[in-house]
Order: sequence, then structure tokens, then C-alpha cells
Amino acid sequence: MNEAEPIDPKLAFTVASVWREERISCPHPHLLQSWLAGGLQGGAQEFLTFHLQDSKCPYCNAVLDELRSRDAAAKSTVLEDLRDRLLRSTVAALRKTRA
Ligand SMILES: [Zn+2]
Repeated sequence: MNEAEPIDPKLAFTVASVWREERISCPHPHLLQSWLAGGLQGGAQEFLTFHLQDSKCPYCNAVLDELRSRDAAAKSTVLEDLRDRLLRSTVAALRKTRA
């Protein structure tokens, strides 16, 4: 047995590419969502930040993009709904003062 063998840099490189290609440590989309919402703390938050910004994982960044656009779509729907309701109540109030 040759236990003291140093790590071959070529092997380390392979491990890194496998790690990236196979998305072994990719966090679950729910975690990405929490990270986006600022709901993570400590190690989890650091891990996600590292994974997305330092490792620049293309898969997770794509998921993040989708989550962001979905978020924006949801927000604009809420705003439109609010505007509709405001408009309707304004119209109703105007009608009341005229009557
Ligand atoms: Zn990832």
C-alpha cells in the first residue's frame, strides 16, 4: 500500500470538472429560492453565494434567472391587481360624491 502518495494535479482537475459537470453539490432549487429571497443564513448562505458567484455554476444561475423572472412576473400581477382595485374604488367613490 502506498498511502502517502501526493494528489496528482491532473486528477484534481478531473475531480473539479466532474464536480461541475455532474452538478454533484448543486443545491436544491428551493434553496436557491430562499437564497434569492435572503432567507438563508451562515454556512448555507455562504455556500450558495460561493456556488453561484464564485463557482459560477451555469445550471444554478439559469435556475436563478428563471426564479427571478417568475418573481418579477408575480410582482407585476400583484401590482396590476392592486391598481385595478384602486381604480375601481376610486370610480366608486367618484360615483358616490356625484350621486
Ligand atoms: Zn449548481
